Amino acid sequence: MYAFDYHKPSSVADAIAVLKKADDGTFVAGGMTLIPTLKQRLAQPSDLIDLGGVKELVGITVSGNTVTIGAMTTHAAVAKSAEVAKAIPALAALAGGIGDPQVRNRGTIGGSVANNDPAADYPAACLALGATIKTDKREVKADDFFTGLFETDLAEDEVIVSVSFPTADKAAYMKFDNPASRYALVGVFVAKTAGGAKVAVTGAGQNGVFRVPEMEKALSANWSADAVAGLKVNAGTLNADIHASADYRAHLITVMAKRAVAAAG
Ligand SMILES: Cc1cc2nc3c(=O)[nH]c(=O)nc-3n(C[C@H](O)[C@H](O)[C@H](O)COP(=O)(O)OP(=O)(O)OC[C@H]3O[C@@H](n4cnc5c(N)ncnc54)[C@H](O)[C@@H]3O)c2cc1C
Repeated sequence: MYAFDYHKPSSVADAIAVLKKADDGTFVAGGMTLIPTLKQRLAQPSDLIDLGGVKELVGITVSGNTVTIGAMTTHAAVAKSAEVAKAIPALAALAGGIGDPQVRNRGTIGGSVANNDPAADYPAACLALGATIKTDKREVKADDFFTGLFETDLAEDEVIVSVSFPTADKAAYMKFDNPASRYALVGVFVAKTAGGAKVAVTGAGQNGVFRVPEMEKALSANWSADAVAGLKVNAGTLNADIHASADYRAHLITVMAKRAVAAAG
């Protein structure tokens, strides 16, 4: 690990002010991705700005048909929230299936969506539920936020404040996970909303999380596992690595989509 200066501001405004003064500063949330990156000397920021002291970034509120989760809220807090479990049970279940207890108690929703790991779970929920990512500067629709592998629309000096999820008539998330890391080999989030069905896939895309319009059309016409049973994503657009071939991932997407629709009821 290279040397860096450490700061612990207590407001978003202070965090941004510290970042602007730094040569090459970066925000740290739970450190679940960033600290291993530093330990492996894959990054050398001049300053680490710890968002852990910013109380305004923590918490869950449910208002009308919207669940809003502060960026520094941990996966464990979302998983055990009775309010989330009531409003969007699939979201609480998703958070409870992330990593292991250590990861869930340190990792945050803001860190997860900012990092946009191609196998992370939350980005699939964001796309399928039509979430809005609120930053200190603006609000961005999930469809415009995730722009590629580990890439988002976020500027370097922009802080994610919260993520807002509209509730759905029905929703479920199914992942086929890597038994070592619990990251998704393939994860499929399905949602039945007033505007139609949405299907988002993580773990498989060459450009990260993506929606499947063909499945959305089929489910909008007929919300049933049978409606997606014959539909397959083109394996040519999918990842192949030591864990699974592109063909296997294409097969899993259909299987996980069917299971998710069945689980959503
Ligand atoms: C062993 C292991 C298993 C895991 N398994 C899973 C899994 O099954 N599913 C899954 O989805 N994830 C998994 N993860 C990822 C984990 O859940 C975290 O979401 C992820 O590592 C980000 O961690 P963090 O919140 O601590 O952010 P950090 O590591 O602190 O930060 C990550 C990045 O986000 C930026 N950032 C953080 N917060 C903000 C903010 N508010 N505004 C702007 N930028 C910000 C940081 O600058 C940094 O670039 C796993 C991680 C580990 C280590």
